[in-house]
Amino acid sequence: MRLYAIFGNPVAHSISPILHNYTFYKLNFQGCYTKVLLENGSNLKDRFLALKLKGANITVPHKEWAYKLADEVVGIAKEIEALNTWIEKDGKIYGYNTDAPGFFESVKEFTFQKVLILGAGGTAKAIALYLQKEGFSPVILNRSKTRLAFFQERGFQTYSWEEFEPTAFDLVINTTSAGLKEDTLPAPQELLEPTLSMARYGVDVIYNKLTPFLALAQQKGLITKDGTEMLLYQGVLAFEIFTDFRYTKEEITHIMRQSLQLLKV
Ligand code: NDP
Repeated sequence: MRLYAIFGNPVAHSISPILHNYTFYKLNFQGCYTKVLLENGSNLKDRFLALKLKGANITVPHKEWAYKLADEVVGIAKEIEALNTWIEKDGKIYGYNTDAPGFFESVKEFTFQKVLILGAGGTAKAIALYLQKEGFSPVILNRSKTRLAFFQERGFQTYSWEEFEPTAFDLVINTTSAGLKEDTLPAPQELLEPTLSMARYGVDVIYNKLTPFLALAQQKGLITKDGTEMLLYQGVLAFEIFTDFRYTKEEITHIMRQSLQLLKV
C-alpha cells in the first residue's frame, strides 16, 4: 500500500483525499491518501519522511516551502518557485506544480489572445508564467504594488488599481481570494464593469461558488467558469505523477469527475 497526503493549514476543508481515494479505488490501485495539518512549513520534509509517504500535495500556505525543500524541481515549477506536488523516487523528493497546467487545461476550450489576471499572489504567478510559456502576454492587475515586482522582473505589464485604465481583454481571470469568504469584488467596480463589458470570458479560480466577480461577468454576458475544472485537472496531473503515469489522463479525468459529481462540487 502506498501512502499519500495533503499538507496545509487549514486542511480540514480539502476534498483532495476524496478525489484521490475514489480514483485509487476505481482503478484498483493500492493507495491511500490522507490529510496532515502542518503549522510550520519548514517541517514539511521531516513530516513527509517520517510518515513514509510516496507522494503529497501541498497547499496554502506551504507551497514555497515545498519548493525550497524538494531535492529536484521539475518543469515550469522552477520558474514559479512554488510547488503543490511531491513524489518520492529512489530516496529523492521530486517536486512539481500542477496548478498551472491544471488551469490551462481548464480554459483550453476557449479561444483567446489578450488576458488580464486579477491578483499577484501564488496562483497568479503560476498562471501568468504558464500562459507566458504558452506564448501569451498576460497583464497583471493587483490591489497593491508590492507583489508586482516579481512580474515586472519577468517582463509582464503590470498595474495597481490606481494606474489601470480599462481596455479590451478576451479573458479576465480572478486569482485573488476576494469572494472566497466575503462577498467582495477583486477590483473596484468602476474598473471591472468596463473591462468585463469588453471581454468574452470570465474565469474565477475560486470553486463551487458564484463569486461577485463571476456574477458581474455573467451580468455582462460573458462565458464564465469557476475553479472546479482547475481543481479537477491539477488533481488529475498529480494523480498521474503519483502513479508513475500508468493510467491515461482520460480514465483518471473520467473517474475524478465522477467523484466531484458525487460531492456535488
Ligand atoms: P495569495 O495569498 O498568494 O494571493 C492573494 C492575492 O489576492 C493577492 O494578490 C492579494 O492582493 C489579492 N487579494 C486578497 N484579498 C483581496 C481583496 N479583498 N481584494 C482584492 N485583492 C485581494 O493567494 P493564492 O494565490 O494562494 O490563492 C488565491 C485563490 O486561489 C484562493 O481563493 C485559492 O482558494 C484559489 N486557488 C484555487 C485553486 C483551484 O484548483 N481551483 C488552486 C489554487 C488556489 P494584495 O497583494 O494587494 O494583498
